[in-house]
Amino acid sequence: MTTLLITHPASLRHLTPPGHPERPDRIRVVEQTLEDERFAHLARVEAPRADLDLVTLCHPRQFVEALIAASPVTGLVEIEADTTMSPGSLEAALRGVGAATHAVDEVMQGKARNAFCATRPPGHHAESVKAMGFCFFNQAAIAARHAQKAYGAERVAIIDWDVHHGNGTQEIFWNDPSVLYASTHEMPLYPGTGAASERGEHGTIVNAPLRAGDGSDTFRDAFETAVLPRVDAFQPDLVIISAGFDAHWRDPLANINLVESDFAWATQKLMAIADRRAEGRVVSILEGGYDLEALSKSTASHVLALMRG
Ligand SMILES: [Zn+2]
Repeated sequence: MTTLLITHPASLRHLTPPGHPERPDRIRVVEQTLEDERFAHLARVEAPRADLDLVTLCHPRQFVEALIAASPVTGLVEIEADTTMSPGSLEAALRGVGAATHAVDEVMQGKARNAFCATRPPGHHAESVKAMGFCFFNQAAIAARHAQKAYGAERVAIIDWDVHHGNGTQEIFWNDPSVLYASTHEMPLYPGTGAASERGEHGTIVNAPLRAGDGSDTFRDAFETAVLPRVDAFQPDLVIISAGFDAHWRDPLANINLVESDFAWATQKLMAIADRRAEGRVVSILEGGYDLEALSKSTASHVLALMRG
């Protein structure tokens, strides 16, 4: 069975202000990297545009309609300090949700073993009624709810190794015992949430904060002791990865010193759990990663691990 790569050119047409780290070149470098012959066996498809019914699995219709109304015809509109919309942003965000939900469709139907969504903007900071931190719609959260609603998945695990805490995913599932959210992230760092004491109403939120300067050993130790046993014990029907690559040592927005092979290692560990618990089903969604060389090498490492199984 194959690994599916989902992209869409709309990801290049979400524009941000000059100097903004979350920029179209991120997707250009990821797509260029995945053109290499090492990735010749990837199945490839363009993301469909998500119906609003999918977006509203996690975001109230009023919030979605307000973003649609805010979408500019020309120029940039500031939604909050870090988050702006250009004329192409809404389409990019809807294709991002479409990529994540299509990945769920293909993996849950057994047409692909696993999938990687190489889209932007990212999603894990988007709360149910708040766009923030470069994010509009929470693709990983929507993917989890879609797997439950459309395919009867009883338990879905979302593992987030982006260097920032996924406050949005945590907020959306805070009261929901059917979704496990587990995150490693630098703390203190934007957005400020993610203390180990934040566990959710049902103990299904798992936060394993790292400190500035931590590297591979500390990350792997946190992953093996705090994250993996909880994911395994949860017995998920689907594993979703919020795959940010900004914990790489080169990244300009944070101070964790991972190398690209750490992402392959973490991928393999999660795939082993998915093999035992979820018939191998893994859906991975690009989140952050702002140094282009680190993003390229880390994505390659992660996707090769998905392909190797
Ligand atoms: Zn991040």
